[in-house]
Amino acid sequence: MNNVSHIPSYLSAEHLGPWETFLVQVDRVEPHLNPELRALTPILTRPMRALIVNVPIRLDNGEMGHFEGYRVQHNLARGPGKGGIRFHPDVTLAEVMALSAWMTVKNAVVNVPFGGAKGGVRVDPRQLSIAELERLTRRYTSEIHILLGQDKDVPAPDINTNEQTMAWIMDTYSMNEGRTAMSVVTGKPISLGGSLGRKDATGRGVFVATVEAARHIGLELSGARVAVQGFGNVGEAAARLFSNAGAKIVAIQDSTGAIVNPAGLDVRAVKAWRHEHGTLQGTPGAEAVSADDFWQMETDVLIAAAMENQITAANAGHIRTRIITEGANGPTTPEADLILQERGITVIPDVLANAGGVTVSYFEWVQDISAFFWTEDEINARLDRIMREAFAAVWDSAQVKGIPLRTAAFVLGCERVLLAHKVRGLYP
Ligand code: NAD
Repeated sequence: MNNVSHIPSYLSAEHLGPWETFLVQVDRVEPHLNPELRALTPILTRPMRALIVNVPIRLDNGEMGHFEGYRVQHNLARGPGKGGIRFHPDVTLAEVMALSAWMTVKNAVVNVPFGGAKGGVRVDPRQLSIAELERLTRRYTSEIHILLGQDKDVPAPDINTNEQTMAWIMDTYSMNEGRTAMSVVTGKPISLGGSLGRKDATGRGVFVATVEAARHIGLELSGARVAVQGFGNVGEAAARLFSNAGAKIVAIQDSTGAIVNPAGLDVRAVKAWRHEHGTLQGTPGAEAVSADDFWQMETDVLIAAAMENQITAANAGHIRTRIITEGANGPTTPEADLILQERGITVIPDVLANAGGVTVSYFEWVQDISAFFWTEDEINARLDRIMREAFAAVWDSAQVKGIPLRTAAFVLGCERVLLAHKVRGLYP
């Protein structure tokens, strides 16, 4: 029986979404695992703990709104839970489960002492005022308080949550505990125990991993054509760093559309336009194109930094690029993965490529606990070293075993998690 056939009763087999992707990934990695650890694999296909909460808030019009919230701790064998909180109307338990599982693998790939967790609220934040968002964040934090703590579970930002959201979480937790608890959440503002370098960390990790891959396949990054899907925290920082390194950002797509300029877009100008007008449409010096045109554009590097399930069997055959770097979590479906592999496109998997964020979150947690703060240069140097070492371990293993980078990253991450289980033993 493969892992995909194990579906818990609280999920609908028809609506597994990204959780199914994760189970297929586990199926693919299982044969390559150390035989002494392989028997423990089923533990990865069940989240350790999932909390579903109702989040009632008072709306500005005096009525009461209700929102569904989740916090899933997929695996805590290697340390406290770590993973972001997402506000999005499409959030489901299955999605949060998958995201928490990828955190388990990712934290192990970069060898930071955390387990995997993730949270989310099923809400369209654009429909709420700032005051409503604050009440939503505080009530959600109170509802999941029983799971949180610096040595229990430490959230961070994800889609549609930011430094301000993390500040509200830190304050709510602190109020309920009757003390100031900085290390309960990362991605905070610098004024509240946040870390220098955290804002750009995921994009920076995406950049460093791509530089390493480019070196291995003989791609010169200076002048290389780069397309970026998703122009938020991850995509914008990655685009800026590639541009600073001399690459040409030839296409950017976000939820408002796609723009191209074969001669290279000015990333700062695009960001300023997007900020001022709320859309990429109309950006000076750029041509608006369809989503299909975006995916079919000839590039050297494609950064997928938006959402899950963006590269599918429908578009994977048309993508013309040499490297795909997964800034987002789960952007490539398992079917698309096989197509890209057959076409010789190097895919740097999410559990490696976007691990820069959690790495600097780890630094933030360490700085908060020790109440001793590092310089940005120290942080960036440590981040670059960890990303390069993790990339080398994954790349070398992929070469030796003749397996894709995703499988190699999963082997590295899963074996570390399963070894922790083996050594800890089964309680009681
Ligand atoms: P964000 O909210 O800052 O940005 C998301 C971007 O994606 C926006 O530009 C949005 O317009 C775009 N987008 C959304 N839906 C889209 C669609 N259907 N088509 C095209 N573009 C779309 O979020 P973020 O923090 O940058 O996160 C992006 C991805 O990276 C997510 O998958 C997240 O889980 C992952 N990630 C984020 C971090 C982090 O530190 N923020 C760390 C690791 C992984």
